[in-house]
Amino acid sequence: MLDVKKIQNVDLDYLTHIISTDEYDEEIFRTADEIRRKYVGDEVYLRAIIEFSNYCSQHCLYCGLRAENKNLTRYRMSVEEIVARAKLIAQMGIKTVVLQSGEDPYYTTEMMCDIIKQIKELDVAITLSIGERTFEEYRIWKELGADRYLMRHETASPELYAKLHPGDTFENRKAHLYEIKRLGYETGAGFMVGLPGQTPYDLALDLAFLKEIDADMIGIGPYIPNPDTPLKDANGGDLKTTLRMVALARIVVPTANIPATTALGSINPYGRQYGLKYGANVIMPNLTPNPYRPNYSLYPGKICLFEKDTACVECTKAMIKSVGLTVGEGFGSRKRIDEIFV
Ligand code: SAH
Ligand code: SF4
Repeated sequence: MLDVKKIQNVDLDYLTHIISTDEYDEEIFRTADEIRRKYVGDEVYLRAIIEFSNYCSQHCLYCGLRAENKNLTRYRMSVEEIVARAKLIAQMGIKTVVLQSGEDPYYTTEMMCDIIKQIKELDVAITLSIGERTFEEYRIWKELGADRYLMRHETASPELYAKLHPGDTFENRKAHLYEIKRLGYETGAGFMVGLPGQTPYDLALDLAFLKEIDADMIGIGPYIPNPDTPLKDANGGDLKTTLRMVALARIVVPTANIPATTALGSINPYGRQYGLKYGANVIMPNLTPNPYRPNYSLYPGKICLFEKDTACVECTKAMIKSVGLTVGEGFGSRKRIDEIFV
């Protein structure tokens, strides 16, 4: 029998045990689905993502956008292009715009202010996912109306973090996430599954960190080896383990918003549908315009690259209905405990 209390208390020995076997999967998946229904309901929220620049000054060993990768056509969208896309998204009735990019200092504090101000006029929530910036910038953008900040912690193992991020530490990542949380952003953490050298214990640490920071949003995807990176020969994460981690994250932080990620959909044609069945309640249709979209290649085999610009909206809506859930209306901010009906 699955011990849900031990999971919710993030008992590291117990978590390590149930993460390292598929023995408990049926119960884990069923429990996650029940908790999802009870705490966040049947509505699945759409978050339209604009990947506005694939320039990056960082060196994350797993990622195709890393500065050292010369095998990539780089692009930057102008402020006008970004705002025009956000308008289209708002017109389509989607209430959240996610602005994502590599860590690209080309976009100054002021340029981001300009973008945020213009998009806020559209009555949508803004999620920033642009990597680490200064604490002062986080503060200014929050005051201008940015609502959420997505910055996965990537791995909560300090040793593994240091190996994957030359010159950087998990302590530093944590400090940024805590500052973002303190400023009042809905804060998104998360991690990859199947990183080279990652153990079940490391994954248990990831769950413990989600609980520790009380993550408002949780992005979990399989690590997918990229041939243009130093880790090209690594094995990637598998579907079952990734789904197990999504489900456990739902059990550990019942009211979090948890996407069925694009990476999950990229390793299996039904990956995102499974995600929605086992705890996820968010989906992020790709609204990056062409010709840029195919160049935002974090990893190979990414889905949705060659569709018509806005096709992902209809596709993800149909996907939500196909698993018996409903398309969320409204902003889909994190529910507070006192808003929960059951
Ligand atoms: N630069 C920003 C946002 C873009 S990267 C940031 O780092 O926060 C967005 C996410 O892509 C990262 O958090 C990472 O978890 C994921 N990612 C990068 N390379 C990947 C790979 N090879 N396989 C799977 N996910 C990857
Ligand atoms: Fe840059 Fe983000 Fe990729 Fe790291 S994960 S190389 S910060 S885009």
